[in-house]
Amino acid sequence: MDVVEKKHIVIVGGGFAGINAIKKLDKNKFDITLIDRNNFHSFPPLFYQIASSGLDPASISFPFRREMRWMKGVRFHLGEVKSVDAKAHTVTTQFETIPYDYLLIGVGTTNNFFGMDDLRDKVYTLKSTAQSIRLRNEILERLERASICKSPENRKRLLSFVVIGGGPAGVEVAGAIGEMKRYILQREYPDINRDEISITIVEGTDRLLRTMSKTSSRFAYEYLGHLMVDIKLNKTMKSYDGDKNIIHFADGEEMYCETLIWTAGITGESIKGLNDVKMQRGNRFPVDEYNRIIGCDDIFALGDVAYMDTPLYPAGYPQLAQVAIQQARNLSKNLNLGEMKTPFKYKDKGTMATIGRNRAVADLNHIYLYGRPAWLTWMFIHLISILGMRNKVSVLINWVWAYFSYSTSLRLLIRPTKFPHRKHWDSCPQ
Ligand SMILES: Cc1cc2nc3c(=O)[nH]c(=O)nc-3n(C[C@H](O)[C@H](O)[C@H](O)COP(=O)(O)OP(=O)(O)OC[C@H]3O[C@@H](n4cnc5c(N)ncnc54)[C@H](O)[C@@H]3O)c2cc1C
Repeated sequence: MDVVEKKHIVIVGGGFAGINAIKKLDKNKFDITLIDRNNFHSFPPLFYQIASSGLDPASISFPFRREMRWMKGVRFHLGEVKSVDAKAHTVTTQFETIPYDYLLIGVGTTNNFFGMDDLRDKVYTLKSTAQSIRLRNEILERLERASICKSPENRKRLLSFVVIGGGPAGVEVAGAIGEMKRYILQREYPDINRDEISITIVEGTDRLLRTMSKTSSRFAYEYLGHLMVDIKLNKTMKSYDGDKNIIHFADGEEMYCETLIWTAGITGESIKGLNDVKMQRGNRFPVDEYNRIIGCDDIFALGDVAYMDTPLYPAGYPQLAQVAIQQARNLSKNLNLGEMKTPFKYKDKGTMATIGRNRAVADLNHIYLYGRPAWLTWMFIHLISILGMRNKVSVLINWVWAYFSYSTSLRLLIRPTKFPHRKHWDSCPQ
């Protein structure tokens, strides 16, 4: 009997796209190597809950090796892909060069500072679990420092939070800090007066959640107001002086802020080596309807980093989890078949955002929900989407506990130690 040699698929990035491709690819036909710079799959829609101490990072993270433990022929490589050599059919990480027959790129996006690159060192962001933990530590540290600060003026300065970007991530994190102000501050930080904490959300256009319906924007505005969040619309940040803690806006206004949270923009993660590929808006790989990168027969891009324009989506598909999941499933089906038979078609399941307890907005494919019905729908959909039964149960328990107790038990300020200093940790991405 002839033994058919299995093709080797390398998947870069174990986000929504990568993890769904691994699940759906036929392990009898392919050997698979997953490369990711973290050893776990994460769940970005709930990063803001890590930042606001609503959930612990482990509840929304899932170790790749646990997911893959029963999958024959699937290997995991912890490393950051530095470059791709399309001619040699190899990808290179800081540790190893790995050959492939097919390469699937699902590296997602990173923060876009729109040319203000100095912001990287000055602002807090929400694009990874590590960044969310850093923001959580900062919020808790600020509260502790303010608690022992004698001057009301200085307390106000310590507790000035500004969120730049009125999209779902910005609205959700502003709402979560607003919840801390409304429900937790008085009980756990009695030395701080509630009025001393200021939360401002700044949006460049004339409404919050501009990718959602106008009614959702209006409700989001109202809900944030209830949580004592100041909202500034039609305002663009020009620069931030991190030494003096001053934000400069394009209209000349200045504002004092010690904790600046940036959720205003994303851009595709860069992979070096594919020099012939003409990257598209937002640093995304141009792909055909099978997610094949234009000009590369054996390399595919999926999810946030893929740019597939169609008559209905002339600027490419929205950068949402569902797009990544559906593209990964469709491509896996085609690869399993051995031919590119089914072009990708996006089934839009809608978008949602939550703004504190009992308040959310959901635009679900011609069904629009607000308030508690939207909030319950939001919770249900996120709960079923989290990977792993242990995580689902853990998140549910945390949510139920927080709902009835008006508190969370996760406000732990755990800082990494500096010593012993080991050189191999220096190459770890942040
Ligand atoms: C704060 C926030 C809130 C969001 N809320 C929602 C929401 O409510 N609903 C929704 O649908 N979408 C939401 N999104 C968007 C959603 O998370 C993305 O659309 C989705 O994660 C895209 O999946 P992906 O697989 O393309 O990339 P990702 O899920 O970002 O995965 C990329 C993976 O690649 C790895 N990686 C990156 N570069 C390298 C490299 N060079 N080498 C090795 N590994 C690498 C990363 O570690 C990561 O595991 C949110 C995003 C954020 C940041």
